[in-house]
Amino acid sequence: MRRICWVMVLIFSVASLSATNYFIAVYGNDNSEGSIDAPFATLNKAQSLVEPGDTVYIRGGVYHIGEKQIMTFEGAYACVFDLQKNGVSLDKRICYFGYKNERPVFDLSQVKPAGKRVTVFHVGGSFLYFKNFEIIGTQVTLTGHTQSECFRNDGGNNNIYEGLAMHDGMAIGFYLIKGAKNLILNCDAYNNYDYVSENGIGGNVDGFGGHPTTEESVGNVFRGCRAWYNSDDGFDLINARAACTIDHCWSFLNGYIPGTMKPAGDGTGFKAGGYGMQEMVRCPEVPPVHRVEYCLAYYNRNKGFYANHHLGGVLFNHNTGYQNPYNFCMLNRKPNREIVNVNGYGHVITNNFSFAPRLAGKHLIDVDVKKCTIENNSFYPQEIKVEAEDFISLDPRELILPRKADGGLPDINFMKLRSDNELFRRGLGY
Ligand code: CA
Ligand code: CA
Repeated sequence: MRRICWVMVLIFSVASLSATNYFIAVYGNDNSEGSIDAPFATLNKAQSLVEPGDTVYIRGGVYHIGEKQIMTFEGAYACVFDLQKNGVSLDKRICYFGYKNERPVFDLSQVKPAGKRVTVFHVGGSFLYFKNFEIIGTQVTLTGHTQSECFRNDGGNNNIYEGLAMHDGMAIGFYLIKGAKNLILNCDAYNNYDYVSENGIGGNVDGFGGHPTTEESVGNVFRGCRAWYNSDDGFDLINARAACTIDHCWSFLNGYIPGTMKPAGDGTGFKAGGYGMQEMVRCPEVPPVHRVEYCLAYYNRNKGFYANHHLGGVLFNHNTGYQNPYNFCMLNRKPNREIVNVNGYGHVITNNFSFAPRLAGKHLIDVDVKKCTIENNSFYPQEIKVEAEDFISLDPRELILPRKADGGLPDINFMKLRSDNELFRRGLGY
């Protein structure tokens, strides 16, 4: 009995010893031991050593990444950090965390590999956890149809991306093409504009993209994220073969050259589905039903919430649209896959709020109300008129207030109705 106990103690000791913390710092050295007192210089070095259960802590400061750090070239892409190692379970992940209250920044502005797209974090591994750092300056150098990405989830499952900011670059903030049950939580993508490719219209630079190419890539969730001043769309689910959820996210001022009102790319707040003209074949037999809930779309260049020629229904519940040219657009394609646009069918449109679309009266367009479930919205079945005075605040500067200490969206009054308003009791909107 005693012997068994000793064996157990040994097993548990080894298990607890096996979780190692590595540190990297701007002033570090890859020949160091990687401890807090003797940190590595590069994520590449730390990544080469990590095992499931380990954490890589990134100390504060700006990491000026050079092309020598590019880990892999794969097809069209230069993968700067190519993360293919896996954690093994929800409580034995591999973690890459900005250290405590420090906020490290990876500056990619000097990574311009000839003839290649750039993906900064190429993630094929599963059970990984990225938290609390920023990526700036990601480049596009190609002049044809192309894109770069700050994060590309390419096969990894059960990953968490939390409290990250991807900004002031030419790349998409976050882009998923394959992998299930990934959570993108409390992240910001802003001021991203590609002025080089395709005549500089910035038409591929979305804040967040969920484009799973396999029907198994289910359960991906965007939650608590903000997208603003991205030159194409805020959130984009085009060509998705599996349903995604966008929950409690804010999307505003997309489709403009950052910091201006000059038009750039598509400018949709939430592009919740669809298949491009040549991509109808990508749609599975049963089109995925995306969920867009408790979201806010303000002053995007084009639509606020958009079904984007989807081949089936989308769920829009408890969203708020304000000052988009069209706040809600439900346009579908014919279910038999002819390339013919038809009024939206199969959508569930409930508890939404629309105010002051920039084109008068365009609260909800391109919808076949007999073929959708449309209940308890401010604009349908009955349109209820509200005025600016009915709101506690219409000040959009609230949208970019700093996040709360736990990383959550700031508490704001923007587009919140006064409590004596009739609509207040109905609890509509985000
Ligand atoms: Ca586009
Ligand atoms: Ca787009």
